[in-house]
Amino acid sequence: MTFGSRPTIKPWLPRVWRDAETLQIGVHPAEGVLVSGVDRATAAWLTGLIGDRTEAEILADAAAAGVDVAIAVRILSGLRRSGVLLSAPMDSQHLGDTGLLLPELVDLTAAKGSPLEGGQVLTARSRVHVVIDGANRIGVPLGALLAASGVGHISFLDAEYVRRCDAGVGGLSLDDEGQLRVSAAQSAIRRISAMPDAQEVPARQDADLLILCQPWTAHDPLQAHAAGDQTAHLVVAVRHGTVVIGPLVIPGRTSCLQCAELHRTDRDPRWPAVATQLVAAANRAMHEPTSVLGTLAAALAAGQVLAHLDGMRVPDVLEATLELCPPDWQLHQRAWPPHADCGCANGSAQRARAVG
Ligand SMILES: [Zn+2]
Repeated sequence: MTFGSRPTIKPWLPRVWRDAETLQIGVHPAEGVLVSGVDRATAAWLTGLIGDRTEAEILADAAAAGVDVAIAVRILSGLRRSGVLLSAPMDSQHLGDTGLLLPELVDLTAAKGSPLEGGQVLTARSRVHVVIDGANRIGVPLGALLAASGVGHISFLDAEYVRRCDAGVGGLSLDDEGQLRVSAAQSAIRRISAMPDAQEVPARQDADLLILCQPWTAHDPLQAHAAGDQTAHLVVAVRHGTVVIGPLVIPGRTSCLQCAELHRTDRDPRWPAVATQLVAAANRAMHEPTSVLGTLAAALAAGQVLAHLDGMRVPDVLEATLELCPPDWQLHQRAWPPHADCGCANGSAQRARAVG
């Protein structure tokens, strides 16, 4: 945090009076401060720290309001050390017509330490194209979450029609029954964002990220070759009541889906035959998750996708899966390293971390 030219008290921090002269700004030790000896004039002056005045103007305001300038300087220094100041107000251009993205901008501004950099992350999200294979109870809520987080282009791959059991929270609706799932999914996205119409059958190669949400897709040999098109891809599924997020495959830099299949085959030589039958016999109606598990999968996956897209932290699903199931609801991470017989990854997740 730097002492910018237009100091702004972070607008999301609560301000409460601990007594008649002690103002508390923020509630977390990492982002909070107590200002003591605050009289009526000083309190009024503090409310003016909204980023529309230079520091010189702020100090001139203090003098005009009868606040000792030396005390005003000490207060500003204390606010700066306590992490409660922004260097400038948050940029409203990133909020959209409805202010939908305000929580995202607040979160990113807090994480980056500056509204300018937080806004830059949102701008970058707005240019991303995510393709979701599977307009189902996981894929559509996941797309809606990403759109509501500022991802600018969401498209779906799906040839099926909507059944009543496809309806879900944040996803398809009962009124969509009988429509193409792809079309209904785009309507669901538009309910939460002002996203323009997308291509209904986009080329995978046009995507920045492909998300595989169809049942058993991770075990489909055709999906294993998705690595060949150089598009990053992420598996998201609920299998037998377990939410499985990952692996996130970055072709040429991490292990791939075929690596995971080879590891499974090492443990069970008959696995390829089993997997082939699972993929071929997939009965979608019997593989839709419950509302709770589908929503959990979508939310957990969205967090990993944003981590990957924003580049602010390493996703937990590089060469790994995150798995969650009742009754303990504990999140488990399972490693899927490169397999010696695959040869897809010239590097590893460690290399990806170094590069990305
Ligand atoms: Zn591989």
